[in-house]
Amino acid sequence: MENDEKFAAGRFNGKEPKVTFRIIRRCNFDCPGCCTFSRINRSGSVRPDDFKRAIDILANSGFHGALNLSGGEPTFHKELPELLDYASSKLKDARISLFTNGSWIGEQGWREKLGSLFAGDNVLIRFSHDRQHSDGILRASGIIPDENQLSDMDLKRTRQAAMFRDAMIAIGARPGANFDFAYKGTLREAEAYMKDLGEVPVYLIKFREDPERRPREFGFLAIDVQDNDDLLVYPTLGHIPDKEPLGGLETLEMALNMNRSALKNKESLDEQRKWTGKNRD
Ligand code: SF4
Repeated sequence: MENDEKFAAGRFNGKEPKVTFRIIRRCNFDCPGCCTFSRINRSGSVRPDDFKRAIDILANSGFHGALNLSGGEPTFHKELPELLDYASSKLKDARISLFTNGSWIGEQGWREKLGSLFAGDNVLIRFSHDRQHSDGILRASGIIPDENQLSDMDLKRTRQAAMFRDAMIAIGARPGANFDFAYKGTLREAEAYMKDLGEVPVYLIKFREDPERRPREFGFLAIDVQDNDDLLVYPTLGHIPDKEPLGGLETLEMALNMNRSALKNKESLDEQRKWTGKNRD
């Protein structure tokens, strides 16, 4: 799962805050620079009723931005298809992005599973594909990989990424709107890393060597599942490492409105600067 986005393909951008909803803390990878410090033995998985309550709050607030469902590895959540169905039907004007490390692609029943996750046209499935993830799967099995092992894993994961791409297209998904590939790094690096996939939509994420020091940037709020399955709301992603939540779900609407105001103020400041610049002299 990944946050800290600086570029997103697709039609939803600006104005409305992005909401990152971590629905599970468990992950079968151990990636360097993981922003959520997810591990295989971490507990914490959202209760379906709590998930639906959060979606209802967003729907009642007219939310129409990007909702990122992240983890851990979200596909470990047993009720994921039901959760996606609910979010897709309630948040018609939002884009719901599901992050996955894609390790299950190619396993028995994977096509059916993929089909069950593509809950509607407002759902996008995002396969994380970069060197950190090749490193992460090897580290999770106790290997500190050398260059050869990393290259072999890159190849294996590229084959999985190609299967994912082809299967998504086969079920009517549109590149960029219903699926893409997340990459931590620059566009040039992403293009080089994914050259064997042909032209595919890429979602860039800033790589942070020190994920503990994420900036408190308004426009990105978070709902975060805890070890005991409770949910906490953070006004920005940068408040998570500092363990400074606003509170439980009852504060979600407040967090959304704080972020909306901050974006509106920023927009009006930008306008003022543009105007001042144009009219100087
Ligand atoms: S796949 Fe890697 S980056 Fe994503 S949650 Fe798991 S360990 Fe973290």
